Amino acid sequence: MEPMQKTEDDWKKDLTPEEYKVLRERGTEAPFTGAYVDNHETGMYVCKACGTPLFSSDAKFDSGTGWPSFTDPAVAANVGTRDDSSHGMHRTEVYCKTCGGHLGHVFDDGPSEAGGKRYCINSVCLEFEKEGEEKKA
Ligand code: FE
Repeated sequence: MEPMQKTEDDWKKDLTPEEYKVLRERGTEAPFTGAYVDNHETGMYVCKACGTPLFSSDAKFDSGTGWPSFTDPAVAANVGTRDDSSHGMHRTEVYCKTCGGHLGHVFDDGPSEAGGKRYCINSVCLEFEKEGEEKKA
């Protein structure tokens, strides 16, 4: 079980309807709609639901898919994967290990020079913390 336990009612209160749909109900935002698809600034992407550091801008690349894409998690221990056979596909789900929130999926068609993985992550699940800027209260 994830260390952070909250009821679904609590999550509904703490997240926007769009965030809830993706993070808690394993939805997917429409491609090319997310805030961070074309973000090229230096910093850390943390979990929108719980603030855990998940992906660094160092690992971000332009996949052309319409979702923020990363070659690796920033902290491997913070990001979990599990089989997902929903929607008639066999995929590997990516989730936040602290709160259990759904983040996206990982595929094997990433840049080969960087390990070959493509973590395909919904913008709505992330909060970007620009390097050198104080975290907003
Ligand atoms: Fe989280």
